[in-house]
Amino acid sequence: MKDKVTSLDEYGVFIEKLHSAVKERKERKIAIVYGDIKYFKYFNDTYGYDRGDALLARVADMTVGESDGFVGASRVVSDNIVGAYYYEDVTSEELYASLSITTADIERQLREEFNCNRIRLAVGVYLIDEKNADINPETAVSNANLARKKAKEAGSVSVVFFKEEMAERLNRELEIISSVDKAIEDHEFIAYYQPKIDSNTGKLCGAEALIRWKKKDGKFVFPDQFIPAIEKSRQIIEVDYYMYREVFRFIRECIDEGKEIVPISLNVSRQHMKHLEIVDYIEKLLDEYDVPRELLEFEITETVCMEDVTNATKFIDALHRMGIIVSMDDFGSGFSSLNLLSEIPLDVIKLDRCFLHSNELSDKEKVIITSIVAMVKNLDMISLCEGVETRNQSEFLKEVGCDIQQGYFFSRPIPEEEFVAMLKNA
Ligand code: C2E
Ligand code: CA
Ligand code: CA
Repeated sequence: MKDKVTSLDEYGVFIEKLHSAVKERKERKIAIVYGDIKYFKYFNDTYGYDRGDALLARVADMTVGESDGFVGASRVVSDNIVGAYYYEDVTSEELYASLSITTADIERQLREEFNCNRIRLAVGVYLIDEKNADINPETAVSNANLARKKAKEAGSVSVVFFKEEMAERLNRELEIISSVDKAIEDHEFIAYYQPKIDSNTGKLCGAEALIRWKKKDGKFVFPDQFIPAIEKSRQIIEVDYYMYREVFRFIRECIDEGKEIVPISLNVSRQHMKHLEIVDYIEKLLDEYDVPRELLEFEITETVCMEDVTNATKFIDALHRMGIIVSMDDFGSGFSSLNLLSEIPLDVIKLDRCFLHSNELSDKEKVIITSIVAMVKNLDMISLCEGVETRNQSEFLKEVGCDIQQGYFFSRPIPEEEFVAMLKNA
């Protein structure tokens, strides 16, 4: 049986071929190459499913056609295609170099044929040789898939080789996943607040709520260590809802107790864009806590916008109807598209902290920041720069008209009590 869209073998057939190939391997090595198309959903949404299918079929063709020693290939799911190839005599380094060149060539060709310069591939590789000759072929494929995920996360590299650490990481992730539900129950998650400063007045004008996980032993786990693990499943939704509730409660309390408060922004993870149940949840919280809408803001990352422009727009429209503003987080960190800014009705653009990677910005870096800030202004949106660490950077941002600043120069994210004290003195 063949797959209708790609004419490749069904996965079961592919695995059988791989089993035989591993047995007949002798001195040869077998590379498992597992790839997918970055932003495929965007491609489908923009150009239609027929073109999407055509793109998949073309990628499949190239998987089969481009190499000697072809063992087999299959579409595992959606746009995930895996292929296996014999190599007579090749080191990992040589294979990496050759696959990187081939992938770049294929990308170039696809961009031309499909007249779309956003086509990028993510490719993971696992090499079977004498050192791991006993590996189960299915494990080899899932290792290549792990490497592919890494390639997908990385902005600029297309090809990633599997490393043992990736399997270790997977185990760590599974550990996290299995302890998060209990952590929610036990209230181990805490909201920290990082102030935002108005460039013109130098005054506190808002804050971003950032999650912290305080374990029973008092140790803190930072979001970078657990968000990526739970972000792949619906678990993140529960964690985000927990945070939203915490923040709504906090704002309500400040109002009831007559304390100062500023608008608080909340992070929205990609999982929410799948079903948009988040909109009902926010409505429910608004009902429950009766928080003034102008004290809320939601941040959605550039990558998430890019992955699903349609739902991102629906989300933003829904929030606007509620009177809540939305910002684009991490702008410029991914494979950004300036078009996106005209397509999506955003209120605030948060320039990613990568723009400020040094204290002394080069002339070119300055030109880039200045132009983005000007563009954001001309589009009638608010510009915010995150990751401001030095006075130099802050002064430069003020000079070029960046509206709001956030970063360690002003304050690290701080716990609620400290933030309340800061608000009082502001
Ligand atoms: P983000 O949304 O881009 O948040 C900003 C991150 O930059 C925070 O890290 C903050 O501590 C850090 N940061 C702020 N100022 C500076 C600076 O001047 N220099 C440097 N080097 N870093 C600075 P944090 O709190 O570790 O959060 C990391 C990421 O985790 C966040 O990135 C966000 O993507 C995610 N995250 C945090 N809280 C939540 C949450 O409640 N829900 C979801 N879905 N994601 C969250
Ligand atoms: Ca954020
Ligand atoms: Ca950010």
